[in-house]
Amino acid sequence: MMRDEAHLDTRAVNAGMEGLRESGHHAPPIDFSTTYPLPDVEHGGDAYEALASGGDLQPEHSAVYQRLWQPGVARFEDGLAGLEGADGAVAFATGMAALTACLLATVTAGRPHIVALRPLYGGTDHVLETGLLGTTVTWVTADEVAAAIRPHTGLVLLESPANPTLELTDIRRVVADADGVPVLVDNTFATPVLQRPLELGATIVLHSATKYLGGHGDVMGGVVATNREWVTRLRQVRALTGALLHPLAAYLLQRGLRTLPVRVRAQQATAGMLAERLLVHPAAVRVLYPGLPGQDPAGLIGTQAEGAGSLIAINLGSYEAAVRFTESCELITHAVSLGGIDSLVQHPASLTHRPVAPGARPGAGIVRVSVGLEHVDDLTADLFAALDAALLAQPQAARA
Ligand SMILES: *Cc1c(COP(=O)(O)O)cnc(C)c1O
Repeated sequence: MMRDEAHLDTRAVNAGMEGLRESGHHAPPIDFSTTYPLPDVEHGGDAYEALASGGDLQPEHSAVYQRLWQPGVARFEDGLAGLEGADGAVAFATGMAALTACLLATVTAGRPHIVALRPLYGGTDHVLETGLLGTTVTWVTADEVAAAIRPHTGLVLLESPANPTLELTDIRRVVADADGVPVLVDNTFATPVLQRPLELGATIVLHSATKYLGGHGDVMGGVVATNREWVTRLRQVRALTGALLHPLAAYLLQRGLRTLPVRVRAQQATAGMLAERLLVHPAAVRVLYPGLPGQDPAGLIGTQAEGAGSLIAINLGSYEAAVRFTESCELITHAVSLGGIDSLVQHPASLTHRPVAPGARPGAGIVRVSVGLEHVDDLTADLFAALDAALLAQPQAARA
């Protein structure tokens, strides 16, 4: 059977492993070379020109210089592109570097206007709101996309599930309303295991690889999966701006892809059980999880996404209760980030979403839990103890 016809789990296990058996390896070798020997000036020059303008490495060419091409980075990119069903992928030092490259590519194409659906990751919101990279932004809800498109709109940007409220957005509908403007979906929360936006009509899929793709909280990276034209443009931006993924990071991220489906499904199963259990606790004014009854009104789970994922947000009613909750978790670490094998909890309004405009900031009572691979009963015990502590910090009104 051809590997690219196999099921997602099989393709994940083999992601980025092409050609290794032939070269006598079982695990990919890590190449730290910053520069590569050139066969002669003419071939070196041809390779340089091809790679610096975003082309592929040709078999007769040298990779020239690590900023232009790196074999381990290419393995991670090929693996992720296969899982997302993309022509190719371009990896960067971080998720924010990946987003920066997308924004710069659209600015230099003369389309600096971005239509963005709130809520978004705090850093994404901040970079758009400041206009740091030469973009202008129109903030919209899903209903307002069509009316916001201008002749110079370069991208429509969304996250589903959204950060940190976990609301789902109908990607097919946004693509239709974008009227030909490329739609960029930040797929960090869903991963290609649960959602493949390119199959729904999106043009660009972005990941903070720091989260589920790496999965162990020990490597930063970003990656964009897209069509040929955008791959070329993004590689050119990367070659010129230099926000590279390090070869060791590429190795860890490519290895992360191989266990991604098992991790994502196991974490999701635990999150689903936890979300239901949390409903009964009086400190949880509202449990936000798209898998709970009534929280997916458009029926997107099963049609757009294969599941609700492993992030849960809890509205505890007040800032004081949220703070007490995060500080009372013991098994679960109080830290930003998400998607790793160990559970984390954080308070978005005072951490990741602090730079977001006050009117668009998540509620002060909301905490976000990234559910890991610990046993569901141990997580339940830790969360219930923290909820008990939060209850004591709640003003009477929220408790009633
Ligand atoms: C973390 C995150 C980012 C930014 O990625 P970094 O790797 O931290 O630069 C972007 N989008 C989402 C949804 C994220 O969770």
